[in-house]
Formats: sequence, structure tokens, C-alpha cells
Amino acid sequence: MIKLKISDYGGIHFREFDIKNLKLYRPNSEEEFVSFLNKLITKKISFSFSGGSHTFNGSSIPEPNKYHIDLTNYRWYKCHSDNILEVASGCTVWDIRDFVQSLKLKLRVWNGGFAGPTIGGYLLSGGFGRSGLSEKDGGLWEIVEFIKVIVPANGVIKTIRKSDAIFKWIFGSKGTLVIISSVGLRLEKLTNNELQKGEKGILPFLQPILYERHKYPDLFKYSPFTSAESQFLEYGTKLFWFSHLIYPESYENSIKVLSDFHYHNSSIIKPTGGWVDGPREQDKNFGYKYYIKQKSFIPPLLMNKNQDFLVTGIMSYLSISSTTNIEEIEKVSKNFINLTMNNGLRLYHQAEDFFNLIDYKTYYDKKTWSEYINHKKTLDPFNFLPSL
Ligand SMILES: Cc1cc2nc3c(=O)[nH]c(=O)nc-3n(C[C@H](O)[C@H](O)[C@H](O)COP(=O)(O)OP(=O)(O)OC[C@H]3O[C@@H](n4cnc5c(N)ncnc54)[C@H](O)[C@@H]3O)c2cc1C
Repeated sequence: MIKLKISDYGGIHFREFDIKNLKLYRPNSEEEFVSFLNKLITKKISFSFSGGSHTFNGSSIPEPNKYHIDLTNYRWYKCHSDNILEVASGCTVWDIRDFVQSLKLKLRVWNGGFAGPTIGGYLLSGGFGRSGLSEKDGGLWEIVEFIKVIVPANGVIKTIRKSDAIFKWIFGSKGTLVIISSVGLRLEKLTNNELQKGEKGILPFLQPILYERHKYPDLFKYSPFTSAESQFLEYGTKLFWFSHLIYPESYENSIKVLSDFHYHNSSIIKPTGGWVDGPREQDKNFGYKYYIKQKSFIPPLLMNKNQDFLVTGIMSYLSISSTTNIEEIEKVSKNFINLTMNNGLRLYHQAEDFFNLIDYKTYYDKKTWSEYINHKKTLDPFNFLPSL
């Protein structure tokens, strides 16, 4: 029996599989992907997904006795015009950034931290740009022209455009409403760019990293970090984020809550990489602050008012090398969620509800929750996908 341990970036959650029982499917082309899913949906066979597995909550890890669709090789692209590029949902965001740059175009919003998230996973988590990007250009939703999805209700592929009412609900929906096949991105044209209408291809892997290191930790445990990886990764620990989504008027309150969180968990939380101070002596450069400019709309599953907002928070490396460590992280996460919700602030739960502790029925206001449930009933009545 050959055992395979499968995990995600966070390394908190994992499952071991006897590989002969693992139903892993890694599509390459749109035709393959759509016809395979159509078959599963028609025959009411359950399935799950992973993009880059750069989430902490274990939702991208295969489940026993379920088909698992791994989008690692799902990386085709199609040029629709000299600045609209359609990319398959398995394309790594940083590879799209570097690929279009080589064609003298610019991807205006891309993720910070590390080269992990795919465009599908990034869109489903919300899509905040690295510091400075979303301050000017807003979130990922501002540069997405259309999303091609497979509707779980009938297994049919559908193009959702910016003008469609459901468009804004896909951002931040965490893979609970639709299956993303591809995304149409509007790029910024630089001089004599080289994007040719009708051109097609496969997006190359451009980052000097082991893309699946987190997914298969035992397979790569003897592979030393590449120099790019060692700038971000440390053995036995992972960088965790504890973020608030707030409107500018709640900034002081958010910083006070972050300071209390740091104070009560200072034996575990060691802020790193911050540039914002807090009220306490120990809060020097302890936090971060990203500005998300409101342009056309704000996804309701992120914030419920159409106005600029901020992402504030603390980053800390946390050890994941023992069960005790993981229990400590759960305690810290619970404390952060309670402190935040008791102060009426929002969380970046799409990426940071590490242990699935939040009750979303009470987390969202009534209007947002009932609209979400209506969309869920229409798009995924048989619950092929998980729910919030
Ligand atoms: C190092 C690091 C840096 C980050 N930086 C940022 C940042 O700057 N801004 C930001 O907004 N976020 C950031 N995030 C959060 C990140 O964008 C999300 O965690 C995102 O979901 C990860 O994408 P992924 O492709 O790895 O998704 P996965 O972890 O593979 O999947 C996430 C969920 O989406 C589902 N899913 C994935 N693909 C599809 C699909 N095509 N159709 C349907 N369901 C699907 C999976 O089943 C799973 O439930 C960061 C995360 C990490 C670990």
C-alpha cells in the first residue's frame, strides 16, 4: 500500500490516502474539464476542487470516496483582443503577471505574499491586490471582464459578464456557488504590446519554486527550498494572516482590537513584515494596512456598502510542527474571530477562517445572507459544492 499525504499551504489540515483509492483528475483542456464535470453532475457523482491549495482551511484537500479535480495543469489561455486575455482557472496569478509583462502588457491587480494562488482561487477568495495596487485600481473584480463558469444545477458552461447581477456574488464566494472554468482579464496596454487576437497557448510555469510543495509535503520534504522559496518559507512554520475588513471610520477601533489580540497572545503571535504602529509599546510596526479603492462595485460577500475599505491586520509565522502547535493556533484563531466580531468588524474569512469556526448565517447581515441563499438554491440546488 502506498500512502500519500495531501495538505494545503497552511499545513494545519491534511489527509492520507492509499493512492489506489485516490480519484484524482487533472484536466488540461476546456473540453476535457467541461465534459468530465458534465458527466459527474448528470450522474449526481460528488466531487471537489483544488487550484493552488494556497488556503489554510483544508477546503482544497481531496475527500475520501470523492472525485477530486486538481487544476494544476489547467493553464490554457486565449487572446480575445489586444488587451483582453482569457485564462483557465488553474493559472497561477504571478505567472499571468509575468507572462503578460513579457508581452508588454500589465496585470494591474495581483496577490502579495507568495506565488501560490491561482486566478480561480484568488477570485473566489475576493482578490485584494498587493499593497499599492488596489489603492489605485481597486480589487481583482475591477479588471475581470467575464467569468466562464459551470453551473452545478445543470453542468452547463455559462459566461457571466460584468453586467449580470450574479457577477459581483462570485467574488468571495469561496467555491460555494459556481465552478470557475476561466476568467477574462482586461490588461493595461504598454507601448507596442504583442497580444494578437485569436492567439492561444498554455501558460508556462515561470516561478522558481516547487508549485506543489504544500500539496504533497512528504513528497518534497527532502527538496531544499529554492532561493525564491527561502525568502518566504521557513521549515516547520507558516506565515499566517489575521485580517480585518473595515471602513476608514473604524480604523482606530481595528488597530485597538489588533493590539488587544497581540497583547493577549504575545507568547505565540510575533508580528512580522508590518509598517503600522499600535497603541501599545510592543505594537511598533506590528500591523499592515491595504487600501481597496471602490470603483464600479464592492463584492457583497466581502463588504456590504459600495465604498472604499481597508484591509488591516497582523502577520506572524506560527509553528505547525506538532498537534499542540495546531491546537494553539486554533485557540488564537478563535480569540481573533471573537474579538473582531464582538467589535462589529469584518474578517477576510475566505482565506483566514483556518478552522471553519464562523457561523456565516449570523456573520452576514440578513439581506446579504438571504440573497446569497437564493443564489445558492438557484445555482447549486443539489449541493455539489460546499456551502458557506
Ligand atoms: C502566501 C499567500 C498570499 C496571499 N496573498 C493574497 C493577497 O495578496 N490578496 C488576496 O486577496 N488573497 C491572498 N491570499 C489568499 C488567497 O488568494 C486565497 O487563499 C485563494 O483562495 C488561494 O487560491 P488557490 O488557487 O490556492 O485556491 P485553493 O486553496 O486551491 O482553493 C480555495 C477554495 O476554492 C475552491 N476552488 C479552487 N479553484 C476553484 C475553481 N476553479 N472552481 C470552483 N472552486 C474552486 C477550492 O475547492 C477551495 O474550496 C494569499 C494566500 C496565501 C497562502
